[in-house]
Amino acid sequence: MIGVSCVIEKIHASQPLTHEEVTALLSTNDTAVWNTVYACADLFRKKYMGDAVHLRGLLEFSNYCIRECAYCGLRSHNINQVRYRMKPEEIIDQAIRINTYGIKTVVMQSGEDPFFTTEILCDIVREIKSKADTAITLSVGEKTFEEYAALRTAGADRYLLRHETASPELYNKLHPDSRFEDRIRCIENLFKTGFQVGIGSMVGLPGQDETDLAKDILLLQKYQPDMIGIGPFIANPETPLGNDKSGTIEMTLRMVALARIVCPKAHIPATTATGSIDPLGREKALRVGANVVMPNFTPQHYKIHYTIYPNKRCLDEEGSKCNGCIRAMIHSEGRTVSTDYGHAYRLTHNQNG
Ligand code: SAH
Repeated sequence: MIGVSCVIEKIHASQPLTHEEVTALLSTNDTAVWNTVYACADLFRKKYMGDAVHLRGLLEFSNYCIRECAYCGLRSHNINQVRYRMKPEEIIDQAIRINTYGIKTVVMQSGEDPFFTTEILCDIVREIKSKADTAITLSVGEKTFEEYAALRTAGADRYLLRHETASPELYNKLHPDSRFEDRIRCIENLFKTGFQVGIGSMVGLPGQDETDLAKDILLLQKYQPDMIGIGPFIANPETPLGNDKSGTIEMTLRMVALARIVCPKAHIPATTATGSIDPLGREKALRVGANVVMPNFTPQHYKIHYTIYPNKRCLDEEGSKCNGCIRAMIHSEGRTVSTDYGHAYRLTHNQNG
């Protein structure tokens, strides 16, 4: 048995953690232990990333998807899902609008929609870049090395591709049409093509235990991604996992804190899913390591249909309202709102920084 106090000592000394150590930590429910871990994560966040919270304007531009991810409401077999696809001009206009709110990152997310070929996506990226002073993050799924390279050349700055779970067995079970090795290859290709890369996972997936969650932390420690998205799994009744239990806020916060500890310089959002299972979920995440929030700027009539999971937060709000409410929340947490792009730490600091 590994002594949890030894693990805490290693955390304080910023030493790499082993799989056994993280598993032991995740298996304890000792509040005092977790309060120490949370305080340490908050300290690392403050030391490396400061008090400013970065806003990323989210645009969910299509909910068509050819994939069958067992947890996701956008899966192609979900025939009850009303589908929409924003027109390229609508996407460009909305990206410019996000920029007028002083938000300097647009996150373009969609299902894997064959309509949006790499050529079309490149055109959209180039148009936005020529018309707005903004960073662009893409979150559009698995593609070839050449496609990633083309998107990067067109001007996209960042790419989010969560690894979803670092347990190959669980990954393969949840993704009948994708393999864990393929996901990892895509992630490695994204690094090679010069993107700022975001990976991450869901917490509380059916069949996922502390050993699996520890694998997620070890994977983050190994890859040192620029961004890390962690949120609870939320059971969607329109999927095969509809009757399973959702992840808990407690375990999600533990994972966010450990992500901050093993990747002190990463941008870590307080995710919408975390705010959806607990009304104060995002605030809590900001207190244990998170430094990013993503106001949703998907036009109202589309956003109600981007139902990857049910009871998503802020569905009844227009983007400007979401933006105002998030800014107020950040200030009430004693933090400030960043006015710059919020690029990856490795690009904004010198090597000794
Ligand atoms: N097609 C893109 C975007 C996927 S949606 C891609 O493959 O990267 C963005 C994220 O939502 C997913 O990576 C997944 O981690 C999360 N997600 C999907 N279904 C979910 C659910 N039921 N509960 C919580 N998060 C979910």
